[in-house]
Amino acid sequence: MKALMFYEFREGCVEIRDVPIPPLGPDDVLLRVKAAAICGSDVERIHCRSTSTATPVIIGHEFCGVVEKVGANVRRWRPGDRAVSENTGHVCGECHACRIGKFLNCPERKVLGAKMDGGFAEFVRIPGEVLKLYPQSLRRLPDNLSFEEGAILEPSANAYYALIQEGGFQLGQKVVIFGPGAIGLFAAAWAKLAGAAEIVLVGGSKTRLEFGRQLGVGHLVNYRETADVTRAVADAIGENQADLVLDVSSGGDQVLAAAIAMARPLARIVKVGWTGSQTVNLDPSMRKGLTIIGHLGYDVVTWDRILALAAENRMDYRAFISAVFPLERWREAFQGMEDRRYIKAVFNSF
Ligand SMILES: [Zn+2]
Ligand SMILES: [Zn+2]
Repeated sequence: MKALMFYEFREGCVEIRDVPIPPLGPDDVLLRVKAAAICGSDVERIHCRSTSTATPVIIGHEFCGVVEKVGANVRRWRPGDRAVSENTGHVCGECHACRIGKFLNCPERKVLGAKMDGGFAEFVRIPGEVLKLYPQSLRRLPDNLSFEEGAILEPSANAYYALIQEGGFQLGQKVVIFGPGAIGLFAAAWAKLAGAAEIVLVGGSKTRLEFGRQLGVGHLVNYRETADVTRAVADAIGENQADLVLDVSSGGDQVLAAAIAMARPLARIVKVGWTGSQTVNLDPSMRKGLTIIGHLGYDVVTWDRILALAAENRMDYRAFISAVFPLERWREAFQGMEDRRYIKAVFNSF
């Protein structure tokens, strides 16, 4: 089968290779990939800026498809079922996080498409070992969703989890979102749907900010054209008025410091974007009694909710898909993501 491999941890070591279809164990599910989306982290990965990568590996962790074959012990899935993976490939099953069902926080977790073979391929093996511990890591794709839409459920799950579950968002609140990538934009869309009084979106890409406007975001702040972002946010919603700030950027110290400055007393700040290193004075967060939350992924509840909402067509997933490509045109697709011309590029033939 054809697969996009990151074969060595070195710049430029990515290519389509012909590799064997993964062998199927008795508890495994073999998924024929119908669509897979490029994540910002895939771009980071192939430029060696992500250490959570094994090589050689088939990349791609946002994917869905049709069950091709199941192992002899598998009862929950049959060939022909439409399914979307939330990309967990391995967890330990024994740690505190695993015992309470928060599998994404397992320190041993391996992601399909990062440390194990993922979805930029004709087929992907969903390991039985993880399906036994965490059956909900593979979900049924609602019939009304196309595969291309199914491929971008995962970033919308991240956004839902950050905004609603970690952020505790409530109707009528004012939310500030740094970083108009797919997760930030999905967060804006969920905030709109959930009844935000005000939404402020801060970013540096005109294309992506404009997309935010189309989602109904009332206040856009382009940091490239604004000397003082905190001031601009205060002009939009008032000083110290943000009930919730999501940092979905890679902007580092400045963003977290600004988030603390614009938060209202007792607000929450959810840090979603990875920044590498950070030195921030947290003292100003103490007087305000802020809660600063480290984000990772989603949980079973998140997927229950977003799949229910998707089945009711409450999120316009189609709007987030900027371009579709066959896998062989991966360079073009990656370039568009890297240039921030696309919200999401999706592969739909392999
Ligand atoms: Zn991702
Ligand atoms: Zn664990």
